[in-house]
Amino acid sequence: MRGMMMDRPLLISAIARFAETNHGTQEVVSVTFDNPRHRYCYSDAIRRSRQLANALARLGVEAGDRIATLAWNDHRHLEAYFGVSGSGAVLHTINPRLFAGQVSFIINHAQDRYIFVDPLIVPLLEKLQEQISGVEGFIILSDEAHMPQTSLPNALCYETLLGAESDRYEWPDLDENSASVICYTSGTTGDPKGVVYSHRATILHSYAIIMPDVMGLSCRECILPIVPMFHVNAWGVPYAAPMVGAKLVLPGPKAGDGETLQDLIESEGVTISAGVPTVWLALLEYLEQSGKPVNSLNRVVVGGAACASSIVSTFRDRHDVYVHAAWGMTETSPLGTYNTLQAGQEQELPAEELEALQLKAGRGIFGIEMKITDDAGRQLPWDGKAFGALKVRGPWVAAGYYGLEEGSGSHDADGWFETGDVATIDSDGFMNITDRTKDVIKSGGEWISSLALENIAMSHPQVAEAAVIGIAHPKWTERPLLVVTARDGEKPNKAELLALFEGKIASWWVPDDVAFVDELPHTATGKVRKTTLREQFADYTLPDSGTDD
Ligand code: AMP
Repeated sequence: MRGMMMDRPLLISAIARFAETNHGTQEVVSVTFDNPRHRYCYSDAIRRSRQLANALARLGVEAGDRIATLAWNDHRHLEAYFGVSGSGAVLHTINPRLFAGQVSFIINHAQDRYIFVDPLIVPLLEKLQEQISGVEGFIILSDEAHMPQTSLPNALCYETLLGAESDRYEWPDLDENSASVICYTSGTTGDPKGVVYSHRATILHSYAIIMPDVMGLSCRECILPIVPMFHVNAWGVPYAAPMVGAKLVLPGPKAGDGETLQDLIESEGVTISAGVPTVWLALLEYLEQSGKPVNSLNRVVVGGAACASSIVSTFRDRHDVYVHAAWGMTETSPLGTYNTLQAGQEQELPAEELEALQLKAGRGIFGIEMKITDDAGRQLPWDGKAFGALKVRGPWVAAGYYGLEEGSGSHDADGWFETGDVATIDSDGFMNITDRTKDVIKSGGEWISSLALENIAMSHPQVAEAAVIGIAHPKWTERPLLVVTARDGEKPNKAELLALFEGKIASWWVPDDVAFVDELPHTATGKVRKTTLREQFADYTLPDSGTDD
């Protein structure tokens, strides 16, 4: 017997319609290159998205065509999220921090017809002109008064384009499984791979992240996504916020600037914000130096990399802000786990255990199934100790990559996605990432978690950033080397740093040496690029001490 419910497609345009009719007066505030505080409402954003959809039709854009953005988090980018995907075209969000060669590679690979580009990013495209000759036009996200001089062919002004269009537009009834957005993984090796989200996956992911034990979003919240809209849809916030009518604050090109972030939080009444650890470290440092508060802020989401304990404790002790760690990937839309404590844990657990628990990547969100397996593919127990390859499946997890054969070697025989992460899962289901498969340090046949060591090193007040890599060792195969950068004006001491590890981990996990560098290499998404670091230290010789226990 079949269910007898209406088969209405789950479409991104439904969020647009809903936000306009139910939360039309809720505010969207943006920083743009030409306006430090642009403000309007969801009804304006959606009306302009319809004008944009009409403009695309006039340019001859058809369902399934790829339309790219090279833009910061702002209202015009939000309009593209709805105008492009809602009309049936596929939004290709490009990370401007990728290497230039990767930017041209993905533009050609996706066969982008038009590119919406922020004036501040125009110079990047100008340099690539010859490599991306297939692009038909560039729509500069500006009004006429602020249009930059550009050598880009067929450059159009966004506001002029929109201004010429009617705001009457019927969002088409698309197949819910049709593509909505394509986002390329930043990958440290090989060419970037395109993850193609569907309307259905996006809607289900949005429902999931607004839940109370996840971001807990509602029309009474004000959310500041610092995580960029050019990478995994800013963790889904640009869809989830209008879905519930939360006030949206978008930091534009100022996402890395502590002063702007503090000002936005205080003056707009931001209650929740989401970003990678690096931005929180920058904001906390600014707050420390300036003595300024973030009174309205209630909680922050930290994902994309392991959360340092100093982020949790400084937010808690100085600003009364709760930190939720979260885990996800481009291939998982991205949210897979979220750390919210269970009833009683806060009251019952000793402070140290509680903090360790809060740093874990969290519990699976309904819709995502997880497992950890050993090298032979056997499932490992959820005991918080055994660590193995993390595999996931669910309706917002990628089944393959654009233009590559089904699965492309990233899925196991049962169709689970191999994340490339190594993790433990405890008996309550709290998952903790211990490494990338490629970064785990193999010492004497056992694994050492580089992330666990980095977390400890980062708790030293003089350390700005820490990374641990395996260095070849004649007896143990590999031994850990701690590489650190110091905070401004500080000179951390090697013996003191190594003493930090005592009692916190098994003695054979303690790094054999510490190297001090001015800067660590980073990927386009702000993670430490360990492949480069390993190359830098390829000829490094470890001291003999510390390897014989
Ligand atoms: P990306 O696809 O660029 O968003 O990167 C996804 C990767 O970031 C994951 O596979 C993890 O290696 C890492 N990552 C994300 N969240 C966390 C977390 N909470 N702890 C540790 N690593 C994380």
